[in-house]
Amino acid sequence: MNKSEITGSFDVAVVGGGPSGRIAALALAKLGLSTVLVAPTSPQSDGRTTALWQQSIELLRDLGIWDRIEASATSLRKMRMIDDTGRLIRAPEVVFDSAELGLEEFGFNILNSELNVALQELCDELPGLTVVEDTVASAELLEQETELRTQGDQKLSVRLVVAADGRNSLLRETAGIPVRRWSYPQNAVVLNLEHSLPHQHVSTEFHTPTGPFTLVPLPGRQSSLVCVETAEGADALIALSDDKLERELERRAHSILGRFKLATRPQCFPLSGLAAERLIGHRLALIGETAHVFPPIGAQGLNLSLRDIIDLTTTLGGPMRRGLDFGEDAVLKAYENKRLRDIRSRTNAVDVLNRSLLTGFLPVQIARSLSMYLAGKLGPVRRFLMHEGMTPGSGFRLKNRP
Ligand SMILES: Cc1cc2nc3c(=O)[nH]c(=O)nc-3n(C[C@H](O)[C@H](O)[C@H](O)COP(=O)(O)OP(=O)(O)OC[C@H]3O[C@@H](n4cnc5c(N)ncnc54)[C@H](O)[C@@H]3O)c2cc1C
Repeated sequence: MNKSEITGSFDVAVVGGGPSGRIAALALAKLGLSTVLVAPTSPQSDGRTTALWQQSIELLRDLGIWDRIEASATSLRKMRMIDDTGRLIRAPEVVFDSAELGLEEFGFNILNSELNVALQELCDELPGLTVVEDTVASAELLEQETELRTQGDQKLSVRLVVAADGRNSLLRETAGIPVRRWSYPQNAVVLNLEHSLPHQHVSTEFHTPTGPFTLVPLPGRQSSLVCVETAEGADALIALSDDKLERELERRAHSILGRFKLATRPQCFPLSGLAAERLIGHRLALIGETAHVFPPIGAQGLNLSLRDIIDLTTTLGGPMRRGLDFGEDAVLKAYENKRLRDIRSRTNAVDVLNRSLLTGFLPVQIARSLSMYLAGKLGPVRRFLMHEGMTPGSGFRLKNRP
């Protein structure tokens, strides 16, 4: 069957072929809902990597994605935070060790290119999931269904739309859901490096006055780097010759991984934020960057999106199994109620961490240094932060944990 000629009725349409959209489509089809994924053909390869925590890995495992990418994933056993602001008030170094929680690792760093290939293959293979390689051009939100029309003039009638069409979402706009947008005076320079010393599965984050400089382990003697800089600083880095860039990055990393050699070309991402004021519309649920965007600090973005997907599928599963209307407003409201707190707390935490590095305001610098000092000295504080960093709310359920 030529999948790009299909016009028809489905339980759910997922719009958007980024990682959130494809993973949601797999999860909803596996739940038993007839699902259509509307996604334009995948763009050029993505040289980034993504750190995913245990709960996200579990979801990938349940959906059969993990088997396909595990071989190229690198475990993250320790996370080191180093105050490299050079300011008068500096925090001591803090090491978060997964062994302290009785875990072998916090999670894994995966190559986006591998993830994207695996997702595309699985979406094409899964029975119950139809892929339409097209872009949604318009949506009509009717009482009992939503009608989507694609640029290729296909018409799809569905009982629920899951919008994963990214930060400039057409679906979100059609439903009239307002968003708050903001920007930061920073860019993230992203690339992969080879290095002469082993990383020993330790991710290291230097806190610098322009933002974090984070090295995350990859297979062998390689790491990915996210270097947050001012816009001018990022331009200056990218303008350097390969040799000079390698030396400059090595200097910034205090040579903790020895000599650097570029494994990929630098890419630049301006830092910005977005928060949708509501996560639902009539027969519409928002997930992923359609609902929330924040800087790539602390590896939270896709992990948060995967929690959207977990909560969406568990919310829809009950009414679906009882033969009820899983797309009605009350069900979607339950989804929104589950998600809002997590999304708002992550967005705020990343924002506060980032701004606390940029500020010259001494009381804020003292507060940041004090929290790092307490995390380094006090086991319960450290364990709380480790649990919360991976799974929201789990830090409050620590009584019986190591
Ligand atoms: C440098 C960097 C490093 C990061 N590192 C991490 C990390 O370590 N850990 C982590 O958890 N997160 C990380 N993130 C965040 C993570 O990459 C994002 O959260 C994730 O990629 C967002 O995926 P998405 O599917 O929600 O959105 P997108 O990837 O933006 O997907 C949206 C899709 O919708 C499609 N689309 C748009 N309009 C339409 C339409 N009308 N019809 C059909 N399709 C449409 C687009 O073509 C696109 O494919 C990082 C981000 C950056 C920038």
